[in-house]
Amino acid sequence: MNKYLFKRPEGLYFEPGDFYLDPKRVVQKAVITHGHADHAIAGNKAVWCTAATKSIMRLRYPRMVSTLFTVPAYGEPFYFNEVKVTLLPAGHILGSAQVIIEYGGIKYCYTGDFKLREDASCERFQVEPCDVLITETTFADPLYAHPPEQDELSKLEAYEKPT
Ligand SMILES: [Zn+2]
Repeated sequence: MNKYLFKRPEGLYFEPGDFYLDPKRVVQKAVITHGHADHAIAGNKAVWCTAATKSIMRLRYPRMVSTLFTVPAYGEPFYFNEVKVTLLPAGHILGSAQVIIEYGGIKYCYTGDFKLREDASCERFQVEPCDVLITETTFADPLYAHPPEQDELSKLEAYEKPT
């Protein structure tokens, strides 16, 4: 079913559109899912991402001013050749996006990091039916046992800024 998506040293590459998904090395065309450093590196020639991810990247990499950004809204399609691409909320951090790729009658969904639970800090995850699901599960490993959310929020509320 998959004859278009390849794992290269630079990252996941969608050949018919000649673009990368969250590349690990600098490339000409990158679709970036969110602003965390393991997904958004500095120096890509052209970047497609949400407006919030662009802001996070510009804060994180202030010297990357020459990067050409395209910032479609969630649900607004854009194209690489005949390849239709749409960003949908991933619920991970502010501006995080899943990347929906449609080509040759096949719909791919690259989730990037995502979270299903509602979170007031970002847009809620949107479920999208697809033919091919590309995902990662860093925190699904049983090694990670996250404390209850309310306990963590209570710590933040109790935190006093040092004087
Ligand atoms: Zn992340």
